[in-house]
Amino acid sequence: MSPSSDSSALCLVCGLCCDGTLFGNVELQLADDTDQLKALGLPISSRGKPRFPQPCRALGADCRCAVYANRPQQCRAFVCALLQAVEAQDKTAEAARRLIRRTRQQAEQVRNLLRALGDTDERRALAKRFQGVRHRLETQPPEGPDRESQLDTLAELTLAVHELQFALRRHFYPDPTDLASSAEG
Ligand code: SF4
Ligand code: SF4
Repeated sequence: MSPSSDSSALCLVCGLCCDGTLFGNVELQLADDTDQLKALGLPISSRGKPRFPQPCRALGADCRCAVYANRPQQCRAFVCALLQAVEAQDKTAEAARRLIRRTRQQAEQVRNLLRALGDTDERRALAKRFQGVRHRLETQPPEGPDRESQLDTLAELTLAVHELQFALRRHFYPDPTDLASSAEG
């Protein structure tokens, strides 16, 4: 969300901190201009602390932020662990690009499995979609000829989500406490 010039090329092939993979929402801070962000099209909820959901409506298909000059404080402040490692020269840009590619593929696999289980709501964060599908299949177990295949797909989805979370935790979240906000969704 807040790349230096050296790292911005990586963000432009990533978008994981804006597309609902790493986080479920963006909380506004006192310094943010809520009215301006609303006018720019961000669907800010005024129940509780002002926030808007991810996947972010301002994220373009090219991974550019449509409100970049006016983006919220949380977006300005966030630098993922991977970018920090590149900036500290602990990791090369090429290695980071490979990790981003692999992690995006993992997130896409989770989306495909969610779709296979009937969740096609691409406007919601991945963690929230997974919780919803799992809750539905646990409270209303599938019946009929598709039962076994649905349960197999759920098992595959659960594994894919855990592998994705492992990769995010290992390479992207700068601090373990950020995991909590992603799960809040
Ligand atoms: S997760 Fe990191 S590399 Fe990806 S867009 Fe966000 S800050 Fe950039
Ligand atoms: S406002 Fe911009 S930087 Fe912030 S989450 Fe949305 S796309 Fe990302």
